[in-house]
Amino acid sequence: MKNIFESTCSSWVKYSEYEYRRGEDGVLYITPTADAKPKIYNPFDNMEEMIIEALNVNRIGSKKTEDELKQSILDFVNKYGLLGFMTGLPTTPEFMDYDAVYFPKNEFIDKETMQTREFTDLFFPFKKPNYVKDKRTATWFPENDVHMSALALTMGERPMALNIMFARDYAERYEWLKMQFKSWAFTCMTAIMYYIDRDVHKADEAVLYTYRQAMAVFKGIAPTYHVALFDEKPTIIWEFNSLLLGIQMMFSFMLTDGTKPLRMCKHCKNTFAASHHNAVFCGGRCKNQFNVYKSRGK
Ligand SMILES: [Zn+2]
Repeated sequence: MKNIFESTCSSWVKYSEYEYRRGEDGVLYITPTADAKPKIYNPFDNMEEMIIEALNVNRIGSKKTEDELKQSILDFVNKYGLLGFMTGLPTTPEFMDYDAVYFPKNEFIDKETMQTREFTDLFFPFKKPNYVKDKRTATWFPENDVHMSALALTMGERPMALNIMFARDYAERYEWLKMQFKSWAFTCMTAIMYYIDRDVHKADEAVLYTYRQAMAVFKGIAPTYHVALFDEKPTIIWEFNSLLLGIQMMFSFMLTDGTKPLRMCKHCKNTFAASHHNAVFCGGRCKNQFNVYKSRGK
């Protein structure tokens, strides 16, 4: 697939370390550790690897215990940062400019709208973000922290909510992360199994209809973009304002990519991007192990 995302204005922030912390509300969150340092990076440099990892964090039929799943989610966050639910769920990442936040249908918030402050508070269970909201204007006072001030300068042109979200006190709920990873894994499995059930198992129309219905639920908001006049040619610059939407969009492209289809490994059951149409193993190791088990009659 031609990489249509070769130019992305999608820098993201990850801290050097994250941890689980329980809020006074009893909810379990993931948040940067007290002395973790923020770093700006481009998550789409290794987009395929990131998507495959996201699909395998909480895959369908996994035998992971709750503790193992917690560790997998923390590993993903330590590698790529939090998903950015705060800018990914509302209809616009510019929601700080408005009194209320609006949501398209989603699995996390069942209201159509919330007051802006009430919404941002969902992500700051330990210490509230330092901003003043007055009707259509919001003024944000960054923490007196060298790392934060440097980040604010770099992100200056992007929506204010993004700056607030990259603050050290920002946290995301473990249950939401767990649900999101499960939801991507489910979508992926639906798309893979539909064709196997149709072509190999000759499933009847009622079964196939269920698959199509399940798939129809998967949809997303497209990221915004602009065109920049680069030296050689005009180029599309994608503006991803949350890792959540970035992953959702890239995953959609991988799911529909005929040249490198997503498959489920016959041995470890993990999802992988097949380099050729007959590929059934995610790698040489799984192929060897599968043959060893088979020859032992297991
Ligand atoms: Zn495998």
